Amino acid sequence: MKWPKCELPMFEPGWVWLVGTGPGDPGLLTVHAVNAINQADVIVFDALVNPAILELAPAGCVIEYAGKRGGKPSAKQRDITFRLIELARKKKRVLRLKGGDPFIFGRGGEEALALVEAGIRFRVVPGISAGVGGLAYAGIPLTHRDTNQTVTFVTGHDARGLVPNAVDWSAVAKGSPVIVMYMALKHHEAIVSKLLAAGRRPDEPAAIICNATLSDQSVVETTLASLPLVVAENAIQPPAIIVVGAVVELRAALDWIGMMNGRSLTVDTWDMCRQRETG
Ligand code: SAH
Repeated sequence: MKWPKCELPMFEPGWVWLVGTGPGDPGLLTVHAVNAINQADVIVFDALVNPAILELAPAGCVIEYAGKRGGKPSAKQRDITFRLIELARKKKRVLRLKGGDPFIFGRGGEEALALVEAGIRFRVVPGISAGVGGLAYAGIPLTHRDTNQTVTFVTGHDARGLVPNAVDWSAVAKGSPVIVMYMALKHHEAIVSKLLAAGRRPDEPAAIICNATLSDQSVVETTLASLPLVVAENAIQPPAIIVVGAVVELRAALDWIGMMNGRSLTVDTWDMCRQRETG
């Protein structure tokens, strides 16, 4: 395989690289991420990192789990940052691998701040966030000229594990035609109620994308009002992205993974939806 000609950085001992792996499919790793894995002495990885990616680690590289999953006993954030600093001070090349993008709902900012405070040098490698890559693999464009000029990424879970109070759900409902929700399964009922109360249509298209970009990815299409029923009926488990908005209807025409599995795609469905909405 050829790479574009670019200077790939050397991983110096004592540095921490905060690297996003993307949502799961190893093919969505960046060249910088692969370069980082190839040089790492220690990899400290999160629960959402696909184990297949860890197999790229060089011989002798130590692999440590530092996952955090909502509601389950897991490493404390303070312990994780402490470990990163400790390893860096031992002059290791410390690779902090995170699912998706490290700076989107991934606490990468907090970890980087702790490194700055400790005087540890670091690099950040962005990754494809689940709310971007997951939608693409579901055949749902984040934006489409005819439906939305805005998109909102929102978390359904705050630091205390509750529906985030700091989110003005009414403003999101009124201002953003497409809403992409991370960590929203636990409180989906409360969130759906807030969106409906703020005036979103009950029959508005919605989709739930589980295990996005992985071989066991599943996508369920529904409506905003039926979302809680669908989550219960399908016993949907995290990780999942919930998306609300008219772009979901484009999946009838753009489900390219479905197409590979025999689904016939048609632009007519999308045209019909558009006519219904505009007419
Ligand atoms: N930094 C990550 C997000 C971490 S928060 C990113 O940029 O993607 C964890 C949440 O991300 C999960 O609860 C889920 O909502 C979403 N997520 C991450 N990977 C996912 C996947 N493969 N499929 C569906 N959702 C995923």
